Amino acid sequence: MVTAVYPGSFDPLTNGHLDIITRACALFDKLIVGIYDKPDKQMLFSLEERVALAKEATTDFHNVHVKSYSGLTVDFIHKEGGRAMIRGLRMNSDFEAEFEIAAMNKKLAPDIELVCLMASSEYQCLSAKLIKEVASLGGCLTGLVPEHVAVALNNRLSKTQLEAPTQRA
Ligand code: ADP
Repeated sequence: MVTAVYPGSFDPLTNGHLDIITRACALFDKLIVGIYDKPDKQMLFSLEERVALAKEATTDFHNVHVKSYSGLTVDFIHKEGGRAMIRGLRMNSDFEAEFEIAAMNKKLAPDIELVCLMASSEYQCLSAKLIKEVASLGGCLTGLVPEHVAVALNNRLSKTQLEAPTQRA
C-alpha cells in the first residue's frame, strides 16, 4: 500500500490541481491532498473553506483524502505514512522553487521521494493567483476551476468588494 501526499495552499483548488490529483491517484494506492494552513502569502479562503472546496472536487475519487496540516510538510507526510510527495510543474515558473524545496526536503527526510508531474498543456499557465485576479475582474472561469469553486469565488469577491466601499471612493 503506497501513499503519496500532494501538498499546497489550494487557494482555491483549480482544474490544474485537479488534473494533477487525477493523474497521481492513478499511480498510488492512496493520495492525500494536504492543505497547508498558513502559507506565507495572503489567502482569500480560510483553511476550512479551502479544505471544503477540495473535498467537494474530489468526492468521486475513492482513494483521495483531503486533510489540513501545519508545520513541516515532511512531518505531515511521515505522520500519514506517505512515501512520496507529489508536485505539479508548470513551464518555467515552478522548477527553480521546487528544486530548492526538494533539496531541503531530501535533507530533512531522505526516505520521502519527490514525484513531479508536468502540468498538462491546457493548464500550463493556470495558477490560483491568476484565477483570483480574473474572477475579481469579472472574467469567465469556465474550464479553469470546478463549478462550485467558481461560485465560491464569485460570492467571496462580490462580498469583499461590498465590504470595502472606501477603496472604491
Ligand atoms: P498555486 O501555485 O496555484 O498557488 P499551490 O501552492 O496550491 O498553487 O500548488 C500546489 C502544487 O500544485 C504545486 O506543486 C504547484 O506547482 C502545483 N500546481 C499549481 N497549479 C498547477 C497547474 N495549473 N498545473 C499543474 N500543477 C499546478
